[in-house]
Amino acid sequence: MAIVAKLYENEVAALATMHGKERVIAPLLQRALGLRVEVTPGIDTDRFGTFSHDIERSGSQLDAARAKIAAAFEISPGARVAVASEGSFGPHPQIPFVALAREIVVLKDQLNGLELIGNYAGMDTNFSHVVVKDVASAIAFAKRAGFPRQGVIVAGCVDQKPAPERALFKDIGDWIDLESAVATVIITWGAALVETDMRAHRNPTRMRTIKRATFDLVRLFRSPCPGCQRPGFTITQRLFGLPCSWCGGPTTALKATVYSCEGCGFRDERLVKAATADPGQCEECNP
Ligand SMILES: [Zn+2]
Ligand SMILES: [Zn+2]
Repeated sequence: MAIVAKLYENEVAALATMHGKERVIAPLLQRALGLRVEVTPGIDTDRFGTFSHDIERSGSQLDAARAKIAAAFEISPGARVAVASEGSFGPHPQIPFVALAREIVVLKDQLNGLELIGNYAGMDTNFSHVVVKDVASAIAFAKRAGFPRQGVIVAGCVDQKPAPERALFKDIGDWIDLESAVATVIITWGAALVETDMRAHRNPTRMRTIKRATFDLVRLFRSPCPGCQRPGFTITQRLFGLPCSWCGGPTTALKATVYSCEGCGFRDERLVKAATADPGQCEECNP
């Protein structure tokens, strides 16, 4: 463990952020990994997609984080490590009217190729919006959201969907600016879309979930491979097909979780405690 903990003592980590994420990421990585986190100067992470409707993200969440990391290494080639985070927000796949947040914090070591992905997924998010036809409704929404500590964005809309090409007001600092932005959009287009700003520096809730994903990254770092001590020994596969307690055939129930190391290929298949599965999960016995 001691060897792992010292791996990054005084190494520089380039952090790809324009939105103040160093506030939560830097102290944790410094304390737990020994990394000296430095924000990559002049990096433009917005070109990989924004939450303020300027630029849509083209690939996956992980693609975007990796692209930010590549950009950070380009600007700071001397850094051994680069770190980036990326969020995604949307309707919960199972629970109606509930929003789901996913946050990843990715660390890449360009010396040994190590990549660690810290995760947060949960309902701790204030991702929401409202379409308004009067200023008072916009004010009410902003109050509920916690404005001005929590930022809001005002945009034009078409059929309840954001239409930033019509109008887009970000970085609204106070109530006067908010009222004037909403009034401007309503006068021109009849309605305005007001939404919570999901950019980290304007969203304390999001900052908290980025911190949680960073904790997860630290947890991964502290999980070394039993074979070669490389950090990041974690679950890479789940095997299903636990035998049915009636017919003995494979069911849809979990049989084992597989831990593996990307460095040396060490593999550890950990069987679940149960030897057989409920026939309810068997396609033969309970079709
Ligand atoms: Zn290994
Ligand atoms: Zn069966």
